[in-house]
Amino acid sequence: CSKTKVILALRELPLQLDSQDHLHKYQDEFIFPKVNDKKVIYFTGNSLGLQPKRTKKYIDEVMDDWANLAVEGHFYAEKPWWDYQERFANPLSKLVGALPTEITVMNTLTVNLHLLMVSFYRPTSKRYKIICEEKAFPSDQYMFQSQVHFHGYKPEDVIVEIKRREGEHNIRLEDVLTKIEEVGEELALVLIGGVNYYTGQVFDMKTITEAGHKQGAYVGWDLAHAAGNIKLELHDWNVDFAAWCSYKYMNSGPGNASGCFVHEKHHTNKELPRFAGWWGHNKERRFKMEPVFDPVHGAGGWQISNLPILSLAPYLASVEMFDEIGMDQLILKRDKITSYLEFILNEISKEVQGSFEIITPTNPSERACQLSVLLHGEGRSLFDYLMKNGVITDWREPNVIRLAPVPLYTSYEDMFHFGQILKTGIVEK
Ligand SMILES: *Cc1c(COP(=O)(O)O)cnc(C)c1O
Repeated sequence: CSKTKVILALRELPLQLDSQDHLHKYQDEFIFPKVNDKKVIYFTGNSLGLQPKRTKKYIDEVMDDWANLAVEGHFYAEKPWWDYQERFANPLSKLVGALPTEITVMNTLTVNLHLLMVSFYRPTSKRYKIICEEKAFPSDQYMFQSQVHFHGYKPEDVIVEIKRREGEHNIRLEDVLTKIEEVGEELALVLIGGVNYYTGQVFDMKTITEAGHKQGAYVGWDLAHAAGNIKLELHDWNVDFAAWCSYKYMNSGPGNASGCFVHEKHHTNKELPRFAGWWGHNKERRFKMEPVFDPVHGAGGWQISNLPILSLAPYLASVEMFDEIGMDQLILKRDKITSYLEFILNEISKEVQGSFEIITPTNPSERACQLSVLLHGEGRSLFDYLMKNGVITDWREPNVIRLAPVPLYTSYEDMFHFGQILKTGIVEK
């Protein structure tokens, strides 16, 4: 009888949490794929966010302006195209803790990091090393290697990876700081993923940035898994540069535009080389077609081409939604729902001893909206089972399932149902 009570209490809990959740209604703002005619439980918003219903309207608006105004749309569209990116400056700067002039939107993430490395990775015979994390996202690894080759160096002489300790899943802050000190005057650049894509570990960006500067290096951050997920204070942390994609937590659609941050202190520095194009040229005189490049004072000075309006439109829809809610609200729910998911996983883990472990840090200040689960034994079939039963997770070799309970569109009830499906899946294997 008491056991039944406990089970009932456990069943009541998610319903109660949902009814108290101010963000619960936002589920209805998104379009969910269906499996077996039922809305899926979506855990992969850290890879590709769901489509907000309002996005289509933003795209249609551009299509209509293009149809009705053609070239005139550059200046006479309701949201003129020629400076469309400036609509992002206010809302995005609030989301990442920046000044509006420190923000722009352009290209895609790896492209932007390359362009920013053109400015902030200037190796000399004395100062040429790059510090990054071990097993960085592959695109970042290829980027580092190709940049190093481009400057005529060898990756093995230049790239210093911070490693995890034997038997540990996450990188210790003290090891990052020690490595920065060790490399010392040879350090040209620190560039790390602010939130690790594999484990969900959140780095102490403020402390690491400070440590890099103490050695005279530039410090930049790849914020692919951080933007729209964690509280950022890029300006106050004195970060030199950063970039992020918009299609993960920010729901802007596949392969969509990247946000870009360049600290104010670099805006008027004429010594910094950069790859230039007409959209980075002084806005007032952009169409005078002058022969000498005069960069906009701000991150906009790193713009190259005129803007891909059709891809910026969905990003604007999403940024406006984030602005409406604010990061603080999102973070409150994020921590609560992630802890609830952790609780469910731990309960199941007790029942099915030893079949998996969570490798994401347990300390809430070192994690955000992701729990990575390392499966022991054969994991792939469990992943397939989940997919077949309407739970979309993400599989990473060799045996990890990543779960992101995105606060904008997942519910506590989703977590509860997921737990039941997972348990059945493990028991049946
Ligand atoms: C997703 C991700 C990327 C993706 O780069 P694109 O250029 O947008 O394809 C890069 N870096 C990290 C850390 C990521 O998580």
